[in-house]
Amino acid sequence: MSRASQKIVDQTRAGPPGPASSQDDNPMRLDKKGFKRPCKASVIYDNCTVLTQEGHVLFRKRLEWYLTRGLADPVDDTTVRLTFQARGPARSSEAWHIQDRVNQCVVCGVEQEEAGLMQHHVVPSMYRKEMPETLKSRNDHDILPLCDHCHERYGRHAHAFKTHLAHTYEAPLEGVGWIYLPHLRPVIKAARALSSRNVIGIPLDRQEHLRGIILDWWLEEGVKEEEERAEGERMGVDGDDVAMEDTSGLHMDWEKALKRALALEDRIKGPSFSTHAQMIIRRLSHEQIQDSEGGQVRWPDLEEFIRQWRGHFLSHSQHRYLSPNWQFHDAIA
Ligand SMILES: [Zn+2]
Repeated sequence: MSRASQKIVDQTRAGPPGPASSQDDNPMRLDKKGFKRPCKASVIYDNCTVLTQEGHVLFRKRLEWYLTRGLADPVDDTTVRLTFQARGPARSSEAWHIQDRVNQCVVCGVEQEEAGLMQHHVVPSMYRKEMPETLKSRNDHDILPLCDHCHERYGRHAHAFKTHLAHTYEAPLEGVGWIYLPHLRPVIKAARALSSRNVIGIPLDRQEHLRGIILDWWLEEGVKEEEERAEGERMGVDGDDVAMEDTSGLHMDWEKALKRALALEDRIKGPSFSTHAQMIIRRLSHEQIQDSEGGQVRWPDLEEFIRQWRGHFLSHSQHRYLSPNWQFHDAIA
């Protein structure tokens, strides 16, 4: 399971402290302005409110960003008011963005005090990070709290969906543009066999044969590096330190040879390499339209892709604690 999602280990919950709270476990804390911050940064939802200058709720989110930039003034412990005129109603019309949110797994309901929660990206980060900035930066709708167990269980469904997308868009999960180096495969296999715990079970003559494969490669590498170093000197470039060091121990340093052989890869990314996500997002980014109202650029195919993932999460996660206000059709950006 990917651990790209940020692991939430903090047990502090949003909201005012209970009567038994001590100074130390009080989730409120003072900043430089003497304004009480309601939560530590690791809580997923701190349920803070951003108001327009007129006092309308604009959205609920972390306040840090606004306060540190002087874009808002504190109203009370969990509310700030913008210091500038908001361009429009933003997301105030969407219930999800202004409601209180609970720090609990949206699938099984376990709360942050009982288990660490993580931020689950409904649209996997591998895709989102390839999207235009507008879509990349406005993703808080599609980040939901999940516990480890539910994240892992849904992850299996998500992987199946990625495989489906790989077929649909002819974008293999391992990417395209690899340069394969089949001549290194026997070297890698030999190094792994000789380094394994079962090496004792390999007949001695076979071990000797495997060692020979590695040494042949090592000698060849040494010659190659020596040639490159000489070429570099001819061109007036300093030789590569690592190559020189390795070459100096060429004939005798078996440990070094084995270590290098173990680190080998039998394929490298070529100049035209693209990841699975890059291929899909590039293809879905072709069609762009200009929003008639604000002149904002939109990407209909990417929006559809984001909604596909929302739909997949809704139908495969077995969520029981997801707010009914979290909607498949909510705005994308
Ligand atoms: Zn759960």
